[in-house]
Amino acid sequence: MTRITTDIFISGGGVAGLTAAAAFGSAGFSVVCVDPAPPVTEADAAGADLRTTAFLQPAVATLAAAGLWDRLAPYAAALQIMRIVDAGGEVPDPRLTKDFDAAEISDLPFGWNLPNWLLRREMVARLAELPNVDFRPGIGFARMLTRQTEALVTLTDRSTLCARLVIAADGRASPVREAVGIGVRTMRYGQKALAFAVSHDLPHNNVSTEVHRSGGPFTLVPLPDRNGKPASAVVWMESGPEVARLAALPTPAFEAEMNARSAGVLGPLTLASRLTQWPIISQIADRMSGPRTALLAEAAHVVPPIGAQGLNMSLADLATLLDLATANRSDLGSPAMLDSYHRKRHLEVQARVTGIDLLNRASMAGSPALRDLRARALDLLYSATPVRRTLMKAGLGLR
Ligand SMILES: Cc1cc2nc3c(=O)[nH]c(=O)nc-3n(C[C@H](O)[C@H](O)[C@H](O)COP(=O)(O)OP(=O)(O)OC[C@H]3O[C@@H](n4cnc5c(N)ncnc54)[C@H](O)[C@@H]3O)c2cc1C
Repeated sequence: MTRITTDIFISGGGVAGLTAAAAFGSAGFSVVCVDPAPPVTEADAAGADLRTTAFLQPAVATLAAAGLWDRLAPYAAALQIMRIVDAGGEVPDPRLTKDFDAAEISDLPFGWNLPNWLLRREMVARLAELPNVDFRPGIGFARMLTRQTEALVTLTDRSTLCARLVIAADGRASPVREAVGIGVRTMRYGQKALAFAVSHDLPHNNVSTEVHRSGGPFTLVPLPDRNGKPASAVVWMESGPEVARLAALPTPAFEAEMNARSAGVLGPLTLASRLTQWPIISQIADRMSGPRTALLAEAAHVVPPIGAQGLNMSLADLATLLDLATANRSDLGSPAMLDSYHRKRHLEVQARVTGIDLLNRASMAGSPALRDLRARALDLLYSATPVRRTLMKAGLGLR
C-alpha cells in the first residue's frame, strides 16, 4: 500500500474532530480524519446522538471560519437568559429563581443550541466540499511512531500515513493519548445523564433553565418549535441506579417523574424523543500535547454537562491550535508550537474543570442543610452585580 503524506492527521470524527477537520481544511491544510464509527446523521437512526450542544458566543467565529456557521444558524435556537432555579426545599417547588440575562453584558444572546445529530450531518457535508480533507469513516487509528519532523501513523485497515501534526480528538479514552503516554486524572461521581427532548405548552422564550434539587441539575435548553409546539432539550443528571430506574419506567410513569423534577417551570412536559444515557465524569490530561501531537476536546478534558462548557472549551482549544498553525505554517507540529499550545490552554482548562466539578458537587447535594447553603450561595453571588457580570463573562469565556 502506498503511504500518503498529510499536514494533519485527526483521530476521531466526533463533533470536535469533524469541526477540527473543517477548520484546518478551510485554512488550507491537508487533513486526513478517521473514525471507526461512521457518523449518524439522522435523528431517528439507531445510535443517533440525541444530545444538543449550546454553542456560546466565542464558538461562532470558530465555526464561521470553518465554513460551518452559515449551515448551522438556520437550525439554531437562541439562548438569551440562563435561569437557575433552586427547588431544594422540603417540597420540590421552586424556592429561588435567578435570571442571568445576556443583555447585561452583550448585544447578543449567550449562545445558540443545536442537535448533535444535525451538527454531524452539516459537518460531514462541509467536509465533502473541501478537496484537501480526506474523511475516512469506518477506519480507526491503530498506532504511531513519532520522529523529529513527523509522525508515522498506522490505521486499523493497516494503511499508513505521515503527518506533521496529529490531533487526538478520539474521546475520553483517547487511543492517541495512550499511544503518546499522556496520563489523566479522573473524578467519578457515580452519576449519569439522561438526554432527551420534550414539548410543552408554555413558550421557553429563549430561556435555558437549570433546576437544582439533588442528584444533579435538571436542565431545559430551548429548541426550535416541533410540530407547532414549543420544545426543549433536557439533560437530567442523577445517580447511576436512579437513572437506570427512570429509564426503565413506562412513558406515563417517566413523564410523571420528569414533571415532578422539572418543578413545573415550563408547565407540563411531554416526552418527544427516546432517552439516551451518558456517564458523567470529570477528567483532565496531564498535558495538552506530546511529540507531534495535540490533544483536543474530550481527549484532553471531560466535564459534567453544566453551563454548556464541554464542547465550547474544545472549540477554544481548536481556535488556539489553529492560530498557532496559521501563524507559522512551516512550524506545524514542532515542539515549540505544541509547547505553546499546552501553555496557552492547560491552566484555563484546569480552572474550568475544577469550577465545574465544584458546581456539580453542589448540585448533587442531598442533605437539607447543604441544599440551604447552596441556595444562600446562589442568592449572594447573584445579588452582587459586578460578581454576577463577571460570572456571566467567565461562563462565556470572555474577559
Ligand atoms: C448529556 C451531555 C450534554 C452536553 N451538552 C453540551 C453543551 O450544551 N455544550 C457543550 O459545549 N458541551 C456539551 N457536552 C459536552 C460535549 O457533548 C462533548 O464535549 C463532545 O460531544 C465531545 O466531543 P468529542 O468529539 O471530544 O468526543 P466524542 O464525541 O466521544 O468523539 C470521539 C470520537 O473518537 C472516535 N474514536 C474512538 N476510538 C478511535 C480510534 N481508534 N480512531 C479514531 N477515532 C476513534 C469515536 O468513535 C468518537 O466518534 C455535553 C455532554 C453530555 C454528556
